[in-house]
Amino acid sequence: MNRALLAAVAAFVAVFPAPAVRGGLVAQAQPPEWTQDQPPLRIFGNTYYVGTRGLTAILITSDNGHVLIDGALPESADMIADHVRKLGFRIDDVELIVNSHVHFDHAGGIAALQRLSGARVAASPSSAAVLKSGQSGPDDPQYGVVSAIERVANVRVIADGEVLRVGSLAVQGHFTGGHTPGGTSWTWRSCDGSECLDIVYADSMTAVSAAAFKFSSSPTYRRAVADFEKSIAFLRKTRCDLLLTPHPDASGLWGRVAKRDAGDRNAIAERGHCARYADRAEAGLKTRLAREKEIR
Ligand SMILES: [Zn+2]
Repeated sequence: MNRALLAAVAAFVAVFPAPAVRGGLVAQAQPPEWTQDQPPLRIFGNTYYVGTRGLTAILITSDNGHVLIDGALPESADMIADHVRKLGFRIDDVELIVNSHVHFDHAGGIAALQRLSGARVAASPSSAAVLKSGQSGPDDPQYGVVSAIERVANVRVIADGEVLRVGSLAVQGHFTGGHTPGGTSWTWRSCDGSECLDIVYADSMTAVSAAAFKFSSSPTYRRAVADFEKSIAFLRKTRCDLLLTPHPDASGLWGRVAKRDAGDRNAIAERGHCARYADRAEAGLKTRLAREKEIR
């Protein structure tokens, strides 16, 4: 964490004392688990976890090409590629890389992973602009405090609700902004024998920002609150048997995996999980907006 970021965090903490910062900027002071190795594992059917202990990367496989969601930190790219190989797959068979949001902890490794795999990268218009330039714009609530990322070549811009296909796979992108303007959640269906689950990779929903940014009245991101509301509504209505999130702890993934490993076969899929995630996002946004009113 550099000095400018430290100062920004200090200013943020001063303006928005705990608990508003919980899970926010303070948590982004690179916890050790972000680079800690996590043996890759099957989540369900053809959906695998290939990220680090603290930053999610998801591999969805088929006989004719794979999809990778998120690339964690720049220094995590080799570890993610290694996890793909450890599962018995070829990194060259990753044909498509997509992203939740363009902060360095989820998009930092994408350029290197694209080089390793030769995959195409696709993103929402706002995220594509950041991936191509390597810099978040002033419309990002965390503009000025997030690190730049390595620029990604050849990013295809997708539409809201677009279905992307690789071989027999189909993943659908849903624009769920708020945390960043281009934030995207991804849905697909995975089967294990005759049992199929609707899986949701829901983007981060925390209303955290640089010190001066206000979600309620940002001149650079006027749709901030409207985007959050759209995202929350999406999470409530989307078919969701199994929730995954860019930070595994945000959806209790390791607890679910531990329960499954202990013999509770279905513990990884929690009924109503997306709706509860939406409730938490809504409560967090409400708290944040109330604080912004207080300091006006
Ligand atoms: Zn972020």
